[in-house]
Amino acid sequence: MAGEKKEALLEIRDLKVNYKVYKGTLKVLNGVELRVGKGERIGLVGESGSGKTTTLKSILRILPYNASIEDGRILYKGIDLLRADERVLNEVRRREIAMIFQDPMAALNPVFKVRDQLYDIIKESARGKLAKEEIEEIAYRLLKEVRLPDVERVMDSYPFQLSGGMRQRVVIAMALASARELLLADEPTTNLDVTIQDQILRLLADLTMKRNLSVILVSHALGMVRKMTDRTYVMYAGDIVEEGDSGEIFENPLHPYTQLLVETAPKLTGNWNPRGVPGRIPDYLNPPPGCRFHTRCPFAEQICREKKPPMIAVEGGKRVRCWLYYKR
Ligand code: SF4
Repeated sequence: MAGEKKEALLEIRDLKVNYKVYKGTLKVLNGVELRVGKGERIGLVGESGSGKTTTLKSILRILPYNASIEDGRILYKGIDLLRADERVLNEVRRREIAMIFQDPMAALNPVFKVRDQLYDIIKESARGKLAKEEIEEIAYRLLKEVRLPDVERVMDSYPFQLSGGMRQRVVIAMALASARELLLADEPTTNLDVTIQDQILRLLADLTMKRNLSVILVSHALGMVRKMTDRTYVMYAGDIVEEGDSGEIFENPLHPYTQLLVETAPKLTGNWNPRGVPGRIPDYLNPPPGCRFHTRCPFAEQICREKKPPMIAVEGGKRVRCWLYYKR
């Protein structure tokens, strides 16, 4: 329920992540703070390249080889996942937290049929304690739940024999087989037809609600994020710049970046700016000091160029990282 503070399931504190590249070090995450309550649905929005996927991958510790976690904590049920050993991490990945990626093919093995891949995940998640008939029954039920027609045919198909929408439904079924607590959905509809996108997001909303699963949904479909989530975090260039109830964030955005993001978002009327927020995300090799948004912000003052603003609590339970709201 929006506005109500739920018991924390996951807390990200001061997370800093860099990437080593040929030219130097990209300082991408700049101290991310994010909290997910039990059964709570969180939206994470911002332009491409703002660090949303890096944040999700940090939770499962599946960052690419050139990434390094410089600082921070990711507390999951009180355990710091950044310092947990492989045994604990594998247990969490198999049974508690699952991630759905933009491209369903990234999660599916092209050389195995859906049946084999789904059976493996169900078996692993149950620590091998299920009989074959039980695994089969769960697999059928999951594919029915994600509303796939002709389950028998899907089971016997290789991923390439299915449409994009069907593949993403299979991936959702797999994620549900292992996510007992938290689902990380990283733009799960980006590569799908517009008509299918809405169906998939609604399906995710239904299924996670029924299971009382916590969710972090990364999506550019701001209208769906508003409908589907309790609270939203807005991310800009590796910083959380605003957080609050989803309805409030989109109806009454406070941070200048959120205001531009909402103003330029695609609307049903077609009355939107296809070029998005004017300007570009800064270069992470040499990010601007102070507020990272100051190079694009119409309200920037001297202090914005020098000091990073703190997160400031404002009315309505919202928090915003902007000097305009600092009481001097
Ligand atoms: Fe703009 Fe300054 Fe606020 Fe940053 S801190 S968003 S530059 S007004």
